[in-house]
Amino acid sequence: MRYRLYNIDLCAGSEDGASLPFIDDAALLTDDGVITYAGPASDAPPHDCREVCIDGRRRLAIPALANAHTHAAMTLLRGVGSDLNLNDWLTTAIFPAEERLSEDRCYAGAALGFLEMLRFGVSACADMYMFMGASARAAADTGMRACLARSVVGDDSGDGGRLAESIKLAEDWHGAENGRIRVMLAPHAEYTSTPKIIRAIRDAAVERGLGVHVHMSETMAEVEGCKARRNGLTPPAYFEAMGLFDAPTLAAHCVALTEDDIRVLAARGVAVCHDPVSNLKLASGVAPVPSLLRAGVKVCLGTDGAASNNTLNLWEETRLMSILHKGVSGDPSAISPAQTFNAATLTGMRAMGYNNVGLLKPGWRADIALIDRSGPHHQPLVDPAADLVYATQGSDVKLTMVDGIVRYDDGQYPGLDALKVYESAREASRAMLE
Ligand SMILES: [Zn+2]
Repeated sequence: MRYRLYNIDLCAGSEDGASLPFIDDAALLTDDGVITYAGPASDAPPHDCREVCIDGRRRLAIPALANAHTHAAMTLLRGVGSDLNLNDWLTTAIFPAEERLSEDRCYAGAALGFLEMLRFGVSACADMYMFMGASARAAADTGMRACLARSVVGDDSGDGGRLAESIKLAEDWHGAENGRIRVMLAPHAEYTSTPKIIRAIRDAAVERGLGVHVHMSETMAEVEGCKARRNGLTPPAYFEAMGLFDAPTLAAHCVALTEDDIRVLAARGVAVCHDPVSNLKLASGVAPVPSLLRAGVKVCLGTDGAASNNTLNLWEETRLMSILHKGVSGDPSAISPAQTFNAATLTGMRAMGYNNVGLLKPGWRADIALIDRSGPHHQPLVDPAADLVYATQGSDVKLTMVDGIVRYDDGQYPGLDALKVYESAREASRAMLE
């Protein structure tokens, strides 16, 4: 299928995060999921009768966003256990409800999560949870680009077959749906596994060329517990000693880091997923993002699950990443709009292993969002980069294309019955919480 998006403005993203170029009156052409032209309308190739033409109505085309840490099916638990800290929230509210998860319920929750992300211009997510075959089917059905990982926990008695399940998931789904679905291995966190399990995951990841997705240093309590259990090592130092970072690693949260931790993450190319809304809501703290960026660490953005956020609207993280660290550091130049936008797009895609997604340029996959800037909160549009990061609302997204296919179009999900997805999710949620 060929598309021509005409009558648009364009922000193609930037490789280095130094600046964000904008083009007024542009066109975007795609062929079979690949961008073939992105630039001024005046230089676009002439119309071809095989193209499907979409009038962009002067909306802004941007690379679709990347949600680099979430638990999509936790939409089923949205609003559960509000106003508790991480430990109490997990043990008293979340884990008991998750006992009642099933394949079908996970499918319903993941499908709802993917529709929510597509609605906000998010084309890709790193989803770590259970029953991931169901999540894979939901990604296939909704068109979401998804990097899936079965969360592995365990104790001295073993991991309950979870790593074997992860490897089966990789065999069944890694690279499926034209490369849209990828699989990573996921030690849930230091505090939910043993050195033997971490080592087994590390070996399986390296052997199979898979990435690793892990929760790391989310709270100071986690770091203190880790030091007590692991001969004084912090979670990054412990994982480094275990060789885990030999696999490309995506580490979520990284709130409580030492200077040495930051040096290790930079040296080993570990991508850090910053989840500011979840960290604030669970009172976990604020990640040292300006220090990470200064050290050259790859920082991307995530919502975490809807149960600790409570939405999958990555525009909130995008705005918050910029303003939170200015406020905390006392430096209004701590993070630029271009750096934030890179975290929300290109860096997140790369952290998930999507190496040709996240910029709008020829040869790259066509993951595109159209932003309506006609509302009062976008006027008078003096500085388009500042406007994009500080003023855009999730509801301004009018169209989301994933891999060259329109998956969200102004309230509709082409080819999909959204109301049925919502109803299945409500039923699954009720059954888990009754
Ligand atoms: Zn998480």
